[in-house]
Amino acid sequence: MKYQVLLPFLFLVMLNPLQAQEKDLTTDLYDTYDAYKEPTLDKRRVKHHEIQPLINKLTHDPSFTVTKVGESIEGRDLKLISIGTGKTHVLLWSQMHGNEPTATQSIFDIFNFLSSDEFSNEKQKVLNNLTLHFLPMLNPDGAERYQRRNALGVDINRDALRLQSPESKTLKRVRDSLNADFGFNLHDQSTYYNAELTEKPATISYLATAFNYERDINEVRKKSMQIIVFMNNIIQKYAPGQVGRYSDEFEPRAFGDNIQKWGTSLILIESGGFANDVEKQEIRKLNYVSILAAIYSIAMENYKDIPISEYEKIPENDRKLFDLKIKNATYRLRGKGYKLDLGINRLEVDKEGNNSFWYSSRIIDQGDLSTYYGYSDLDAAGMTIVPGKVYPKTFQNIEQLKGLDALDLLKQGYTYLKVDTISNDMLESTLPLNLLAGVYVLPEMNLAVGQNPTFVLEENGKPRYAVINGFLIDLQSGKSDFKNAMIYR
Ligand SMILES: [Zn+2]
Repeated sequence: MKYQVLLPFLFLVMLNPLQAQEKDLTTDLYDTYDAYKEPTLDKRRVKHHEIQPLINKLTHDPSFTVTKVGESIEGRDLKLISIGTGKTHVLLWSQMHGNEPTATQSIFDIFNFLSSDEFSNEKQKVLNNLTLHFLPMLNPDGAERYQRRNALGVDINRDALRLQSPESKTLKRVRDSLNADFGFNLHDQSTYYNAELTEKPATISYLATAFNYERDINEVRKKSMQIIVFMNNIIQKYAPGQVGRYSDEFEPRAFGDNIQKWGTSLILIESGGFANDVEKQEIRKLNYVSILAAIYSIAMENYKDIPISEYEKIPENDRKLFDLKIKNATYRLRGKGYKLDLGINRLEVDKEGNNSFWYSSRIIDQGDLSTYYGYSDLDAAGMTIVPGKVYPKTFQNIEQLKGLDALDLLKQGYTYLKVDTISNDMLESTLPLNLLAGVYVLPEMNLAVGQNPTFVLEENGKPRYAVINGFLIDLQSGKSDFKNAMIYR
């Protein structure tokens, strides 16, 4: 390398040695993630009993302290896991909403990282300067049912003042006893959020919560903003443009707002959507990398130079995404043709036990949706929406459907099959055709908000695409991200 090239490079490194170092750390954390990913947690519907063996393992590791700090309404233990000897206390809690588990998984990845032998230099700095406290799955009763609220039917995040729920009391007591310097409030948000005015999902959204109606910025809140800017820079590297910023309207009943008020610099993180990442495992990884890097930055105190003006530059959160957006389609009603856009979402319906789910899709909006976006997007200009047909033959049972060429039927415009007997425990059709059980009579297609999107898009009088339960199927290539069709009884 010639000197002309080498010198500016050296100069840059010397100018900002911390930044260079921490950039390397982020890359290393990202690249080595698979070694620390907790393999027993691999889908969103994580239950309390699944994390107990992982917490018990930590009780045998002398660097961790595990303390039972409370119980949920239904008697599930709430445990605080602490590590480090530093004077700055950092408290992280996850899943106060039971159906928001992404960061819970990241926390167990972080435990694996902390109990490994690698990265010893960085970890030594962190654990000498900080004491880290984790309270994973604050709402285990909600997690059991994969629902937002706890067993009392209360949103814990609106119970910070009244403190009726034992989970709320626990969080308040833990925060107060530690008088934590930093708090990470870890949530999930709808996958339909986007970064304002772009088609990019808000894979991560942040908020430095306000502590009063005036939205003042004091020293405590300023640090939240600085850490968020720091983390945003990391996420931008792996998910460019996919970060949103929540409105900082003050909510007097919420924990984030009150914890900020009580003197803990509060970082709210919401894990949103990422294309083709249904179980949010890529987002889990981004949480792992960015939270660990933020912890390191707090330990090194190098976030302090970050100007808070950068915080306002993060695009605002918006909610303008659909799973599927079809634009410019023609729809005929009472003999007239109309141009319609359709916004379609695939809604998850939990199976018994709340361990898995199937999709029941809905038309969410129709009309001019030019200000909306889709994870997938089809320009249907020149295509007409027509109802799918019911195949004339009635099958006796599901067995008889084996060997059917579904794509061929779709190409002929069929989207429904009649089947005499379908057992009641069968909830979804894995064939890309909706099933009509027994004597069920299909009503006429009603293209309306709230309806299940199943129809054919014709081009030049021939089926070009089929939409089955909200899944788009290209009838020329057969390409689709189809998961399941409906059964009507
Ligand atoms: Zn939440």
